[in-house]
Amino acid sequence: MDTQQAGDGPQHGQLEPSHGTSDGARFGAPSGTADLHMHSSHSDGTEAPAEVVAAAQRAGMRTMSLTDHDTTSGWAEAAHAARRHGMTFVPGMELSASHEGRSVHVLGYLFDPEHAGLRRATERIRDSRVGRAEAMVRNIGRDYDFTWEDVLAQTSDGATVGRPHIADALVARGYAHDRSAAFEEILHPRRGYFVSHYAPDPATAVSLIVAAGGVAVIAHPAGRGRMLPPSVLQELIRSGLGGFELGHRENTDEGTRALRRLAHDADLIVTGSSDYHGSGKPNRPGEYTTSDAMLARILAAGTGSAPVLP
Ligand SMILES: [Zn+2]
Ligand SMILES: [Zn+2]
Repeated sequence: MDTQQAGDGPQHGQLEPSHGTSDGARFGAPSGTADLHMHSSHSDGTEAPAEVVAAAQRAGMRTMSLTDHDTTSGWAEAAHAARRHGMTFVPGMELSASHEGRSVHVLGYLFDPEHAGLRRATERIRDSRVGRAEAMVRNIGRDYDFTWEDVLAQTSDGATVGRPHIADALVARGYAHDRSAAFEEILHPRRGYFVSHYAPDPATAVSLIVAAGGVAVIAHPAGRGRMLPPSVLQELIRSGLGGFELGHRENTDEGTRALRRLAHDADLIVTGSSDYHGSGKPNRPGEYTTSDAMLARILAAGTGSAPVLP
């Protein structure tokens, strides 16, 4: 059973960014200047929050959201940097969820980080991820000269240890050529070292974000093998789902078309974003963007925390 995290797995189904064509209508105007899905070293990105903000600005973005996995610990630094750069900062997070053993990622924007239910869920996910990472390292250590210390050496302070850090440690030890190879070889579930971790079901994840005053957007919903069944999509809409991230390099054209129809029929928000991870992934800031109109809808709907406005 693969509960792969999109945020830490190898890339599948890569699509070339295609601004300025009919895709503009799919995920926002081609001239969008908002990148609402970016990771820092507070989860599995390689740069500090302030560096991520600067990278967004260099790419021509005027608005960015820091969406580290299951943590808001990078918000303060990102907000400070956004003020310095005269950018809009939208507080965000990518919440881990799971549907029948498959990983589903739910982006939350402008929610209250102190909301008790949401905090409990993120703490449980983080605790379970560390326990799971330690179990995987123990499993690998049975066949390789490989320890938890190797992994900690690849993890910045404050970051939740995850599979990307284990992958980086395998690379550092010479057991894999690069992070992607580590995922496709030693960390692949078929090798038997893999351990899954706790995550709420997608409807619970959406409900928690909404209860905390936030806007819930399913991340890369049309990635290969990631399409949720229509019944689950309808359940999410009933739970208060805000929208779909239709501009994302992992989405397939076919899945994106289907979800665009659903978004239109249900009057949902559609976003586009890079899922930037610094040097940890090839995704570049601003390679997909969110239109001003869709950004305005998110800013109007999110009431749990305040954006930083220029
Ligand atoms: Zn993701
Ligand atoms: Zn992500």
